[in-house]
This record gives sequence, structure tokens and C-alpha cells, in this order.
Amino acid sequence: MVAPTWLEKELNEATDVLIKVYGLEVSIEKIDEDKGRYFIDQKRNQVDGIKMLSYLRILKDANSLSVWLTEYDLYIENLNFCFGLAYGNVAIVSTYRLRDRKKDLYLSRLRKELSHEVGHLFGLRHCNNWRCVMYFSNTLLDTDRKSEDLCSKCRMSLGGVINSVIRR
Ligand SMILES: [Zn+2]
Ligand SMILES: [Zn+2]
Repeated sequence: MVAPTWLEKELNEATDVLIKVYGLEVSIEKIDEDKGRYFIDQKRNQVDGIKMLSYLRILKDANSLSVWLTEYDLYIENLNFCFGLAYGNVAIVSTYRLRDRKKDLYLSRLRKELSHEVGHLFGLRHCNNWRCVMYFSNTLLDTDRKSEDLCSKCRMSLGGVINSVIRR
């Protein structure tokens, strides 16, 4: 058997955490580096997250969730950086600040940030329980402390969202 490439490993972990937390198989893609470069703010040397997200929104059909990874460092207005962002049916997670020499630590951060952004796609807001994946990560320390799963309160509000989708 051929060993999975690093990208395959990232995408497998990403798919796995979304199945585990939300029970959904979502297709996740990596943003092409050349395309990503187009959204770089030259002064900051970071990618404008809102511009990138707006571009991805028109790429995909509006009825399916679309989740992306990028290697570029992201920022949005008023924030020096962000680990990811989500709006409408599109979520982006940046791997830039999650990297670590310890591969397992890196992959666990990736799983948490993905789980967090997809929570936003389902309408979940930030949670004040620091163990909950919907807790806002200001620093990597916050990411490392929280779990990849929803607390019982967020799980209940998610249940409401999923029920209303099914009933529609
Ligand atoms: Zn958030
Ligand atoms: Zn919560």
C-alpha cells in the first residue's frame, strides 16, 4: 500500500472530524496556491479572508456545504489574523498558524478549527465554555485547550438546526 501524502492525511483528518462531530460527510478541498496568492494583501503579506470567501462562494453551488483549507495566513478586518472564517455555506481554515513540529498536535488543531468553522455554517455562535469547540480561539493556547466536540448546550442548539432542516 502506498503511504498517504501529507495533503491526503490532512484531508482525511478533516473529513473524519466532520463525520465524528456532525455526522456528515463533507467534501473538503485545498485552495490552489496560485489562486490563493491573488488575495494577498501586499502590505500585510496575509490573505484577505473576506475576499477569498466571496470568491469561493460563487465557485460552488449554493445548496451544498463547501469547506476549504489554505496554507496562507488569513486576516479579516479588525483582527491581526484569524484561524478560519465561515459565511453562508462556505468555510475556510488556514493551516498557517496551526503547524507544529509535532505532527499529531498540528492535526488535532486542524480538526478543531474545522469543527469550529463548520459549527458556524450550522448557525452556531461562539460559546463561553472553554472546552467546547465553539469557544473562540484568540491564541493557539485556546485551540489546544478546547476539545474538537460541541458542549451539550451547543449540541442541543445544533439539534434544533438539523431538525428544522429535515422538516423543511
Ligand atoms: Zn468562530
Ligand atoms: Zn458550546
